[in-house]
Order: sequence, then structure tokens, then C-alpha cells
Amino acid sequence: MITVDDAIRIVLQRIEPLGSETIALEQAHHRVLAEDIRADIDLPPFDRARMDGYAVRSSDLGTVPVKLRVIGEIAAGAQFDRRLNAGEAVKIFTGAPVPSAADAVQKVEVTRANGSAVEILESVTPGQFITPRASEIASGEVVAEAGREIGPAEMGVLASFGYANVSVGRRPRVAVMSTGSELVNVSSKPSGAQIRNSNSYTIAAYAERAGAIVDDLGTVEDTPEATRDALLRAAGNRDMVITSGGVSMGDYDLVKAALDEIGAEVFFDKVSIRPGKPTVFARRDKTFFFGLPGNPVSTSVTFNVFARPAIRKMQGDANPALPLVRARLARSLKDASSRRSYLPARLSIEDGQAMAESLKWGGSSDLVAFMKATALIIVPEDVHEIEAGELVDVMLLDERI
Ligand code: AMP
Ligand code: MG
Repeated sequence: MITVDDAIRIVLQRIEPLGSETIALEQAHHRVLAEDIRADIDLPPFDRARMDGYAVRSSDLGTVPVKLRVIGEIAAGAQFDRRLNAGEAVKIFTGAPVPSAADAVQKVEVTRANGSAVEILESVTPGQFITPRASEIASGEVVAEAGREIGPAEMGVLASFGYANVSVGRRPRVAVMSTGSELVNVSSKPSGAQIRNSNSYTIAAYAERAGAIVDDLGTVEDTPEATRDALLRAAGNRDMVITSGGVSMGDYDLVKAALDEIGAEVFFDKVSIRPGKPTVFARRDKTFFFGLPGNPVSTSVTFNVFARPAIRKMQGDANPALPLVRARLARSLKDASSRRSYLPARLSIEDGQAMAESLKWGGSSDLVAFMKATALIIVPEDVHEIEAGELVDVMLLDERI
């Protein structure tokens, strides 16, 4: 049995980014940059007024008040090509380009307009109320690096620098299927020992949120032939197949045997994690396989710890793992396991301090309790008890804090 860290390392070593495609900016939200984004212009592109008022030469304002001749007006978006001579001012509005030879702006509140003249009541320091050209970004600078997810702010930055099209990582094609002869469809009422297939929906939703293009292939009977045929069909030309169930030690746990039979290379089939020990990771040709355990909480935990980073890395994400934070434990907890535990928890901020409260749950089938979790408290292998108030590592289940 290998450690969680080793398992994650193996996943990230084996999986390579799938390559890139160029798409329209309008389609780029949530994608991962496959190219460094460079400024093609200075920002601001000119010396820009920060106030409504008058563009002046600071040397004219040695003694105030002083009367200056107003030789024109510049609104945002307007050009003004005349030079400003000694004793002259230009009326200017926020966002407008400051004319050459003016080196400051005085705000309108400390001026008095008087026909074609203006009286400036307070002196200025050179540069006052001017945002100099290129003070935010100089043309040619890298403003966002490949591997970064495109969120709303990145969309605006890309637009600012003329990226009508942008190169992004290709989205993996992922097939999802659930094994288990006990499974019935959502529209059926389970009878006897049947249960509804919920894992396919959870995995598909997590995988889509991670950026995958998902095909849900439904359920598969627990027979060696059905499992083998379904895995082959699922692989097709897909980048990844994620299965649930059929990976523990029972007689009907057929996924690993079927992977062997179709000639897949199994990289690991047991990880020292709780819940989720019998997690399988394999590859056949270009298709990677994650065999996740069938208990719904185990499925969710192992998806987020192992499969999500794989989906993100395929897209070129420079930070494929979910973020970790340090939080204070709200209530003491006990954990007898010598495996590393990922316990469903709610994270909150109290008095500026992140607090993690482990949720009461009835074990790894309790998906209703898990629904309330926003994070997972990580209990190290050799830790069996943590007091309230101690700091713990917490994995956020959402990509962003
Ligand atoms: P397995 O890993 O196949 O031994 O499954 C363990 C348990 O998880 C089963 O007894 C089911 O109760 C549950 N389970 C398996 N597959 C699913 C599924 N697709 N949806 C919901 N629960 C499942
Ligand atoms: Mg099963």
C-alpha cells in the first residue's frame, strides 16, 4: 500500500497536458492559459488625468492664487495637440490624456473659472493627479502566465491586450460509469437490495467542474465480461475513464481484474487513505483509468484527491491540486486509523480565523452528510486525536476560497 503523497506524485508524473487549442475570448472563461499573455500596449497608454480640473505647468504656480489662460478642453477619449506655454492651462476631465508640457493637474474644487481664464487657488506638486504612461504595465511585459485559470479578471486582462483569440489547454474527454448489479437508475424505485446509482452524477458533476467533457455511460453489471467490455467501450478515444465500485476485495470486485485483462498497466490499486483505500490508477494506450471505490463519500474524496488533479493537469493547470489552508479545529476529534484521513467538514471564518468543524457522518455511505461539507480535514497517518483549537490542514472542496 502506498501513501497518499506517493499516489498523487505517480498520477502527476504519468499525466501530461493534452496540448492546446485556440479559441475565441468569449469561450475562454474557466479554461487554462496555454500561452503567456503579453501586453501589446502600455497601460495607461498615455499620461492620464486622475481628476476633473486643469492641466497646468507646476512652474506657473510658484505663488497662488494665479490666473492662467484656458486654451482648450480635453474630455476622455479626446486628443489635444497644442503645446501648453507658460501662463496657460487646459480644462481636463478624468481619464483624458494630459497634454505635453503640462506636468500636473489641479482639481476643479480649488479653481475659479472666469471666462477664458481660470484662477488656481492652490499650488501643485509635479506629477500631481497624473497616472503616468506605462505605470501599470509596459508593452511587452508578461501579465499572466501559461497554466493560470481564466477567471473574470483574466477575461478583462485578455480583452485589454487585444486577445480576441487565446490559446488554452485542451479539455479532457472523460467517460464515467458505475459498476454494481445492485444499481438502478434514478427514475426507478429501488426494491429489495437495490440502490439508486448516485455516484455517476457526483463524479460527472465534479469532473465537469474540473473542466472535463463528460460522457455518462450509466451502470454495468458485476460480471467479468460486462466489466471488461464496458471498460473497453468507455476507453474508445477518450483521455480518461472514471469508474465507481468494484475495486475492494469482494468476489464481485472486478474492475482491477478487467483492467489487467484488457492490457492496462496498473500503477497502484491501494492507497493509505481513509475513506477510499482501494483506489485504482491505470493506463491503456492513451487512456487513463481511475477505479474509485463505490461508497459515495469514498468516491467523492478519492475523486478530489486523485482524479481532479489529473483532469486539471491534462488542461495544463500549474496548480492542479485543490488548495490547502490551515484552520483551527472547532471540536476535538478522534481518528483511530493509521491511514491518512480526509474528514468531511465545514469551514467558516470567525474573528478573521479559519475554523473547521468536522461533520457528524454515518460512515462512507453517508452522502447526505457529505453534501454539507465544504472542505476535508486532513488527519495525518500517525495522529489519532486532535484537540479543539489546534491547527489542522484542510483541503477546500471548491477551487477558490
Ligand atoms: P463497492 O465499492 O462496489 O463494493 O461498493 C460499495 C458500496 O457503495 C455498495 O455496497 C453500494 O452501497 C455503494 N455504491 C456502489 N456504487 C454506487 C453508486 N454508483 N451509487 C451509489 N452507491 C453506490
Ligand atoms: Mg460493487
